Amino acid sequence: MPGFELFGEAERNEVNDVLQSGVLMRYGFDGMRNGHWKAKDLERELQKQLKVKHAQLVSSGTAAVSVALATAGIGAGDEVIMPTFTFVASFEAIMMLGAIPVLVDIDDTLTLDIDAVKSAITPKTKAVMVVHMCGSMANMDALNNLCKAKNLILIEDSSQATGATYKGKPLGSIGDLGCLSLDFVKIVTAGEGGAVITNNEQYYKHSDHFSDHGHDHIGNDRGAETHPFLGYNFRISELHAAVGLAQLRRLDEFVAIQKANYTILRDALSVIPEVTFRAVPDGGEESYSFLSFFLPDLDSTRRASSALKQNGVDACFHYYDNSWHYIRKWEHLKELKTLYPLPKEVKEGLGYLKDKKFPKSDHYIGRNVSCLIKLSWTEEEVRQRAAKMLDTITKAL
Ligand SMILES: *Cc1c(COP(=O)(O)O)cnc(C)c1O
Repeated sequence: MPGFELFGEAERNEVNDVLQSGVLMRYGFDGMRNGHWKAKDLERELQKQLKVKHAQLVSSGTAAVSVALATAGIGAGDEVIMPTFTFVASFEAIMMLGAIPVLVDIDDTLTLDIDAVKSAITPKTKAVMVVHMCGSMANMDALNNLCKAKNLILIEDSSQATGATYKGKPLGSIGDLGCLSLDFVKIVTAGEGGAVITNNEQYYKHSDHFSDHGHDHIGNDRGAETHPFLGYNFRISELHAAVGLAQLRRLDEFVAIQKANYTILRDALSVIPEVTFRAVPDGGEESYSFLSFFLPDLDSTRRASSALKQNGVDACFHYYDNSWHYIRKWEHLKELKTLYPLPKEVKEGLGYLKDKKFPKSDHYIGRNVSCLIKLSWTEEEVRQRAAKMLDTITKAL
């Protein structure tokens, strides 16, 4: 990760097809487009690779989460359970719909702690959003069973885990709705883009219509469209879809490269007795986009993380001190800083966050370092990096 490291001829050819016809929009203009439907082709490729019945492309991963929530009928005053460790897009999307993000602890999987989810369920809970951070997953059987028993919708954000599987099923295809990001730094990139995937036909139709102003897309050349409900514009362009199409076809190749690089680094760090690795549930196969490990305590993790940076080992993150991915530094959320007045339900519903502590999440994120696995490294570079990491972390402990 990211896929842009390996742009080549295939990406250029797909984009040129679009530029030659001149139709940059994914819908309509049937006569002008020379048979090129890149967004449709990419949706079919997503269905095939992620083993789902339906895929709807949208303009970003954030849009995918927003569309998935709207599709599931989540809105004013509904509670959505989500983890403390994710990307800010999770609560942004929930709040844009007038719903309330209920943040709960993570565990050593670096994803939702199932007991924390259980304790957070109230009569207002409508959905659980699990976020497969850094290429791996929660115990999906336990989560699925809990959601079924409590009649909750399960939404998977697999933006950082495209290509990972649980008991043979691609992440994103297990819950009611899955969300993917195809942004510039993700494993499969379209430049900007995202997708909602589902096996539920009704959800698919809702995603299709909602992401394009509620148009029902019936008839050739948009001739007979009506609007069964209100929507918005979350469309992807043909140019972006063209890049994504060439990239997605290489997913297996990308995962294989990541696995090889990850394995060299992991083997090297395994000899340090103080290093432990993130837990992967039984039946889980990571996408290997990150190598995530734990050190003994917050201080040693801070020391190791800054020493890695100083010694030129780039892209290793200590999320405890990071403002994008962990609740500790989300002051704007805790203080409800918005440009526009929030609905009363959201304001009241989020009052709990200001003073809430998450000791279990702090325990894991405080001791975690996650290193991005790149696609463009040569084997020599990975081996040098492994030696440097081993030396740097040993000295920092
Ligand atoms: C990248 C990311 C998103 C948002 O995707 P964009 O395409 O950048 O909007 C959402 N969730 C997670 C976990 C992400 O990593």
